[in-house]
Amino acid sequence: MSNRISTHSLPMRYADFSTLVEALDYAALGNAGMNFYDRRTQLEAVLEYRTLRLRAIAGARRLLSLNLNKGDRVALIAETSVGFVEAFFACQYAGLVAVPLAIPMGVGQRDSYSAKLQGLLASCKPAAIISSDEWLSLINVVNVHGTTTHILSNASFNALPERDIELPLPLPDDIAYLQYTSGSTRFPRGVIITHREVMSNLHVISHDGIKLRESDRCVSWLPFYHDMGLVGFLLTPVATQLSVDYLRTQDFAMRPLQWLKLISQNRCTVSVAPPFGYDLCLRRINEKELVGLDLSCWRVAGVGAEPISAEQLNQFGECFRSAGFDSRAFMPCYGLAENALAVSFSDEASGSQVNDVDRDILEYQGKAAAPNQNTRAISTFVNCGKALPGHRIEIRSEVGIPLPEREVGHICISGPSLMSGYFEDMVSQKEIQSTGWMDTGDLGYLLDGYLYVTGRIKDLIIIRGRNIWPQDIEYIAEQEPEIHSGDAIAFVTSQERIILQIQCRVSSEERRAQIVHTLIARIQSEFGVSVSIELLPPHSIPRTSSGKPARAEAKKRYLTLFAETLNPPLPVTGYAQ
Ligand code: ATP
Ligand code: MG
Repeated sequence: MSNRISTHSLPMRYADFSTLVEALDYAALGNAGMNFYDRRTQLEAVLEYRTLRLRAIAGARRLLSLNLNKGDRVALIAETSVGFVEAFFACQYAGLVAVPLAIPMGVGQRDSYSAKLQGLLASCKPAAIISSDEWLSLINVVNVHGTTTHILSNASFNALPERDIELPLPLPDDIAYLQYTSGSTRFPRGVIITHREVMSNLHVISHDGIKLRESDRCVSWLPFYHDMGLVGFLLTPVATQLSVDYLRTQDFAMRPLQWLKLISQNRCTVSVAPPFGYDLCLRRINEKELVGLDLSCWRVAGVGAEPISAEQLNQFGECFRSAGFDSRAFMPCYGLAENALAVSFSDEASGSQVNDVDRDILEYQGKAAAPNQNTRAISTFVNCGKALPGHRIEIRSEVGIPLPEREVGHICISGPSLMSGYFEDMVSQKEIQSTGWMDTGDLGYLLDGYLYVTGRIKDLIIIRGRNIWPQDIEYIAEQEPEIHSGDAIAFVTSQERIILQIQCRVSSEERRAQIVHTLIARIQSEFGVSVSIELLPPHSIPRTSSGKPARAEAKKRYLTLFAETLNPPLPVTGYAQ
């Protein structure tokens, strides 16, 4: 297939619509749309917005033939496919609540996936589920005791009769979809997002954050069940009438350079990824492949979703400079599902700007002080920009008092994109309704109004009142040649024991002992604390469905195993009579 679509043929509107339906109605007047690529970057499917609109309207009529009621949830197994996009917009035209759900990404994840899917379905209680054939048998098993009445493959969804009624078009305060959080610190929670909330976010993302232009072309490999993939690269292009090229996340993970090839080949200008996306490219590139790439078109290389390492971005910039990549394209940003997606973007074309602070003062006093002549060690944080217009960020103490600049505290957010609360959680809904604010669970500080994220409260390693950031300990491990970024995870037990788990392929007993010995000594000398190090086989570190390290899950697994070694199960001595 060679007819990819690319033209912006309409006066550009920056998501100034009152609902997603209005947004697609407008985009459908032009020529733009979505292109789906296979793992060899061959065009596999094209979906123009005008076709998407027609199919979504027909899909809405089919969904309504099932006698679903306004506000009912429709769970969608969110593959990067035409089927998912059509079903998502069919829900919007039918006034139903779309619930994108994750698919397992790695080998060996199917067992844990069915437990997770069961939890998600129990939480959102969908009236219908739509999936590709691949997951149907698993869904049927998981749903044995569930309440979902309609389990549909894409084909059986397409075969439903179209009900001949006027579509109950959504109002701005209707729920558009539930977005599950990534599950980094707990089981994912369903965030309620209305049309008004998502449209507010889409407007500031496109107009003030990325500052999209008519000539822009987007590309993404982010999964549609993650806020960055769904809001950033499915809804933003629709709401700004821009074309977008997709690669499947699994294909990116296998061959990360396909992302860069697509940018180069299609002259894409905007793409966003978590830091590990850039790191994967860096690790896999070789001289030969570099020669064929021209990344000079890449205007906005967004980066967020996880703590950002300036050093890693610098390395990427250095490596791909010869392919025309301009490091000023880096655009660090901060966001979370609870705010639809984005809270802040760094300034356009400023690259990754950093702030160096004295690490001891940070750890002992919670202040981001500039280094001085007594500084022993430095921590570096990346500028994640100012709050988007109409949105606010406040740094507050534990008891909720606003803190001055350079003081580390809870990042609290407010504004028109903030969720209406978690699904079926009245406490969160009432709290947001009455205060208009939310504590994100992240820690950070402000400097000249710019946000610097230092980490998550739940991940912080607190030893005798001192705050150590897990990423600082993990970073030391990652400096060993056999250990890559993302291979180490640090957490603390309730007895203030720091555990550092490292996944690696090193088999030599001698080298393993050497790694452990070196790291214990290095961490002791840098932080004055002792750690217990565990070397684990590859793929042992738990990750969320969007690829983030799940420290809470790692700790839970560690504690369960630890308890089992202390209290081994009693051997079976007889048989039941
Ligand atoms: P859960 O809420 O289920 O534990 P999650 O918080 O990872 O999972 P998301 O809403 O997908 O779910 O991710 C938002 C979180 O990602 C933020 O709260 C923050 O911890 C982290 N994050 C996002 N952007 C940045 C950034 N620029 N720097 C550091 N962390 C970031
Ligand atoms: Mg969260």
